[in-house]
Amino acid sequence: MKDYEYLLSDINRLNGIGNKTSKLFKKKNINTIFDLLWSLPQGSIDRSKISKLNQLQIGKIQTVIVNVKKYNFPRKRNLPNRVLCDDETGNLDCVFFNSYEGYIKKILPLGSIVKISGKVGLYKNKYQITNPTYISSDKKGIRKIDSKYSLTEGLTEKKYNKIITDVLKNIPDLNEWHDNNICKIFDNISWKESVIELHKPQNAKKNGIFLKRLIFDEIFAALLISSKVRFNIHKIKKKEKKFNENSYKEEIINKIGFKLTNDQVKAINDINRDLKSNKKMFRLLQGDVGSGKTIVSLISSLNVINSGYQVSFMAPTEILAQQHFMLAKKIFDNDIDIKLLTGKTENKDKKKIIEDLRNNKIKMIIGTHSLFQEKIIYKNLGLVIIDEQHKFGVKQRKNLSDKGGKNCDVLVMSATPIPRTMIMTIFGDMDVSIIKEKPKNRKEIKTYSKIENNIIDVINFVKKEVNKNNQIFWVCPLIEESKKVDHQSSIERYKYLNNFFENNVGLLHGLLSKEEKNEILKDFLNKKIKILVSTTVIEVGIDFPNANLIIIENANKFGLSQLHQLRGRVGRGDKESSCILVYKSSLSENAKKRIRILKSTNDGFKISEEDMKLRGYGDLLGFKQSGMPNFRLADPILNENLFLLAEKEIKRIKLNDENFSKYMPLLKLYDRADILSDLV
Ligand code: ADP
Ligand code: MG
Repeated sequence: MKDYEYLLSDINRLNGIGNKTSKLFKKKNINTIFDLLWSLPQGSIDRSKISKLNQLQIGKIQTVIVNVKKYNFPRKRNLPNRVLCDDETGNLDCVFFNSYEGYIKKILPLGSIVKISGKVGLYKNKYQITNPTYISSDKKGIRKIDSKYSLTEGLTEKKYNKIITDVLKNIPDLNEWHDNNICKIFDNISWKESVIELHKPQNAKKNGIFLKRLIFDEIFAALLISSKVRFNIHKIKKKEKKFNENSYKEEIINKIGFKLTNDQVKAINDINRDLKSNKKMFRLLQGDVGSGKTIVSLISSLNVINSGYQVSFMAPTEILAQQHFMLAKKIFDNDIDIKLLTGKTENKDKKKIIEDLRNNKIKMIIGTHSLFQEKIIYKNLGLVIIDEQHKFGVKQRKNLSDKGGKNCDVLVMSATPIPRTMIMTIFGDMDVSIIKEKPKNRKEIKTYSKIENNIIDVINFVKKEVNKNNQIFWVCPLIEESKKVDHQSSIERYKYLNNFFENNVGLLHGLLSKEEKNEILKDFLNKKIKILVSTTVIEVGIDFPNANLIIIENANKFGLSQLHQLRGRVGRGDKESSCILVYKSSLSENAKKRIRILKSTNDGFKISEEDMKLRGYGDLLGFKQSGMPNFRLADPILNENLFLLAEKEIKRIKLNDENFSKYMPLLKLYDRADILSDLV
């Protein structure tokens, strides 16, 4: 057995953990001994002070020295056994549920003097300690200070302390995985020593060097593995793509009717360089909502098609796939065969599409997840584009890239403006191009706030826009975590608005079928309806240039970044656009702060930074970012310096396999190694 394997073994191998206890731990997702190490003391319990029985405080853990006076063993079910005790100042009952008489008599012999520690309660006007944590007949027998853990239900403090003490005693001496320069930064404290320090009751919640080292290890493991993935992907030699990047330019610019921004051009150049090189591309295109990523990806697609390859473009939703498809149709030559494939595509069409992809007749396929789940075989796939797939982590991207084959480049697009530490963590396996600049014609979105009682003001605002033939999003958020309530609140709003704008309101909520949703979105896109009431199902990425007003109800339920994303649904055309945040009641300081930030800037990166400061990183994205590894200790805001240090160190070390092996225990422990097993 390798040293670290002890730590990865099941907790039930520990003394004192039988089936029952192990189930309790597993409920809390503590499966291995290593997991157990991160269940941290919340503070300490001091049992050293002895209290007299007339000084007892109910509800507190206290230690007393008493005489054992009398047993009371009622031989009835459900009634506990009692042992009556006293000192010179008062009385106390020790109460035992589920303990045998013989055992009680042994630990509390009549007439003896014992030390007892436990939580003091009051029953029928008498003090009692139920199932005392410690009973000892000699003075030494009680641990003076225990760590206080956030307890798993059904587990006692005593058991927890005993288990963890055992584990800490048995942690193997692991070989140091870091180089000397890093060890020095952390005062040469080893991983093992750090973990032991971490569990000392007096260190609870302390921010010592031991904690920094452990946080660093966690960050280092996450960044190291994505860098290794990147390193290995870059080793893959592919056929260079050959194309003339200028041949289409004028034609496309004419068709889209706007000039590309500098950042768009830069991104296209980055991508072209990758496509033409003999290394496989693995690139993230990041840009705030509305920064114009789609056109960049379509121009790249054209280049790939011109060099003789097929392109596969995956969008997160059907409606978005449809939008991309329509745009591609518009700007591509008629003789380039593009097809749309979604869950809605009819079976016979699907069959034909699959056949034509296999024989290289179709040059570009745009679709949803189904593109990769189905048994689709490409003749000659040269580029995979993944749009707004926040749920994809390193592993999924890697799988997709593999599926495309070695000549297949990969482009991932994301509108989630996140700070660099998080880009490193989530997308560390990729090269990054960022579009910061917004298209020139963009106007700032004016942001207002309103209390719900004054909703009639909002209605009047909406009337003006409707009269100008503009379109409006009206967002009703999830009020409870329940879909039912969600759709009820939006139905009520829909009815209310229909009083004012008959036949001009559409309703979109989570309980509608895909077909129904699509119909309504189409009606909105074709301007058949003016107002679209919806829950947050108006998806990221959708482009409705004619919509220039968005109302967001219960706005305090959303995070800043999410509000920014929602707000970004408007302001895409060249009209004045506005966003009205509606609040239920008077605003908290925090809510006021958020409105101020939103009003003051339209820059998603700034907003996400402020958001992180207000809320911490976990909640930042407003939707569960499962591409983000679960850190137990590290925090991309608070520990920015350690992220930067890890990045620097990883750049320094060579990532070839011989060098890499010393990090394997670290990666195994921090559950990052499984990606390696299928690395080429
Ligand atoms: P996102 O980056 O959020 O995916 P889109 O690609 O959907 O943004 O673009 C948003 C809107 O901006 C679209 O209507 C698109 O036609 C338009 N657009 C893109 N680039 C430019 C540009 N350089 N100048 C003007 N409008 C642009
Ligand atoms: Mg987009």
